[in-house]
Amino acid sequence: MTKGIPELYGSLVFNNRVMRDKLPKDIYRALRKTIENNTHLELDVANSVAVAMKEWAVENGATHFTHWFQPMTGHTAEKHDSFITPIGDGQVIMDFSGKELVKGEPDASSFPSGGLRATFEARGYTAWDPTSPAFIKDRTLYIPTAFCSYSGEALDKKTPLLRSMETLNKEAVKILHLLGKNDVTSVSTTIGPEQEYFLVDKALYEKRKDLIFTGRTLLGAMPPKGQEMEDHYFGALKPRVSAYMHDLDEELWKLGIPAKTKHNEVAPAQHELAPVFDTANIAVDHNQLTMEMMKKVADRHGLVCLLHEKPFEGINGSGKHNNWSMITNTGVNLLDPGRTPAENIQFLVFLMAVIKAVDEYADLMRVSVASAGNDHRLGANEAPPAIVSIFLGDELTAVLNSIENDTFFGKQQKIQMETGAAVLPHFFKDNTDRNRTSPFAFTGNKFEFRMLGSSISVAGPNIVLNTAVAEALRQFYEELKDTPSDQMEEAVHGLVKRAIFNHKKIIFNGNGYTEEWVKEAAARGLYNLRSTSEALPHFIAEKNVALFTGHHIFTREEIYSRYEILLENYCKTLHIEAKTMQDMICREFLPALMEYTDKIASSLRAKKALLPELSCSSQEQLLEKLSVYYEEIFRAEEKLEADTAKAEALTEMQEAAVFYYETVLSDMNALRKAADSVEKYLPDEILPYPNYEKLLFSV
Ligand code: ADP
Ligand code: MG
Repeated sequence: MTKGIPELYGSLVFNNRVMRDKLPKDIYRALRKTIENNTHLELDVANSVAVAMKEWAVENGATHFTHWFQPMTGHTAEKHDSFITPIGDGQVIMDFSGKELVKGEPDASSFPSGGLRATFEARGYTAWDPTSPAFIKDRTLYIPTAFCSYSGEALDKKTPLLRSMETLNKEAVKILHLLGKNDVTSVSTTIGPEQEYFLVDKALYEKRKDLIFTGRTLLGAMPPKGQEMEDHYFGALKPRVSAYMHDLDEELWKLGIPAKTKHNEVAPAQHELAPVFDTANIAVDHNQLTMEMMKKVADRHGLVCLLHEKPFEGINGSGKHNNWSMITNTGVNLLDPGRTPAENIQFLVFLMAVIKAVDEYADLMRVSVASAGNDHRLGANEAPPAIVSIFLGDELTAVLNSIENDTFFGKQQKIQMETGAAVLPHFFKDNTDRNRTSPFAFTGNKFEFRMLGSSISVAGPNIVLNTAVAEALRQFYEELKDTPSDQMEEAVHGLVKRAIFNHKKIIFNGNGYTEEWVKEAAARGLYNLRSTSEALPHFIAEKNVALFTGHHIFTREEIYSRYEILLENYCKTLHIEAKTMQDMICREFLPALMEYTDKIASSLRAKKALLPELSCSSQEQLLEKLSVYYEEIFRAEEKLEADTAKAEALTEMQEAAVFYYETVLSDMNALRKAADSVEKYLPDEILPYPNYEKLLFSV
């Protein structure tokens, strides 16, 4: 490495420093105003910015530009145009206009739109999002954009996210002004997504059709050792993993992504990366880029990065913790309880708004993390349960109890940590311990939404969170708006008290993995949406449609189209998995099993021919066992094949999703169980693809 990290950091980003250097003063000021106040940008300003951007990009080796957007596939999309413009005489110049910067017209016909746009109306538009900085990757200038249809419907994940941030901003500022915080002019949402992933050897990966086609293993017995020793969590990094992580950090830093923490996770071959938090819109873009870079850098190291939620059966899957808070333009974190949370009415209002939001829209929160992959994690005693609840910790719970019951809240003294060793420094304990089993936990000055799957865009969950909290704040404002300022404190106290009474059922500080909690949650009337097919219909529930349309996040049509896309995506994912499994069983697993059975049979025949008196009962028993398994696997595969065909024939999507979940997936589980049971009898050279032992312990 030649450059120091501070010089390297953001070197491929058209950030504020570059803008200040490259833009005429008045243009720079106009652009800053647009970014900070969400105001409209004039074309002459855009033209100047385009020229500066192009010059900077060309200086840094770029030849192309692309409007980078986030269609409903959950991935990012890009189409590259070069800067060249012929000027006659066989010559070109490098050119880029304001119009090209602000608007693009990709042919949108092949992106999922859930019926919003017929294929013959292929026109779609991308529009520059100046609040997320442009960057260079692979010698192309990337311009973050929103993607919409000819008639203005959002076809992407960025547009609704921006809308949700604006609505939360508006409602939060209204309440703050009511509470006398007139210096606040804007509130933004901040997120810090912690990203889990697996690394496997590329040569091994390439031998597994299931990993290639579905991102997860559909077959594979546990090796003698899994994660039971818990020796991988925070363990020393192996040299190959460490080299990968260093390389990844540097690539991310160049893109201005503040990668901060890295460590080994619980499962073998599992790791985590966390950035420093940022404004929601930028953090979402950065998380998409991080996932892409994780894969790209892995390739350079002869590795493959698996972002699937459950690549391996029997060990932990991967999630993404979405740390979330709100910050004012004056730098105040609205979820910071301060020294005396019981007296901090501003904190209590915002805390209660979050609690009310999560309680009233718990089903939408669940929808926002629903995917075929995540279904393998939620509720499987390794990730949060599928039931949404909130962990507040002892101190805040005590604060809320005292408000609800009008009792005195005696603040606990900070307790000095007793380590029993004099040489160690003295420090104070945190007021709350951690609770890893909670789906939505208060962690000191932010909430951590832990149900997200590792592969999804974090846009969706934050759209729901922002909008639901905005709605709670809107209702609080309506309750408080006519209160004279000298009675405000009392009025807020009353409001908080009522909100606690109405929403305390969502608060649960216990162990979320237990059977008792499932029963208790049902008694409390909380949702327990076990699968994607069960969760998705809640997206179009009337109360949820009212929430989104009321805040202009989605139109009714946009909601229905997204519901369709999610259902279709779920069915397609399971269809591909079922087909891949059939292929592996019929063309790889059963032939291997037959080959080995044949070997045993011929050896048995040879022995018997030579020594007719010899007892070969154990070998006969093995032969019989393998043949019985062969039969069972063969029949289970036939059933899976027949049910997959039935699923294909279903035209009603919701019905198909339920059928895939209840029938096709359970066929796959039964088939897998049989195949995995016999796998241990098969020698390595017989199995035509690498087993778990090799995949999990080879890097
Ligand atoms: P922990 O390890 O306890 O989960 P950390 O302090 O390491 O918590 O933070 C985890 C993530 O939360 C990091 O990405 C961090 O930047 C992010 N984070 C911290 N403060 C905030 C905040 N106010 N808003 C959003 N994210 C935050
Ligand atoms: Mg965390």
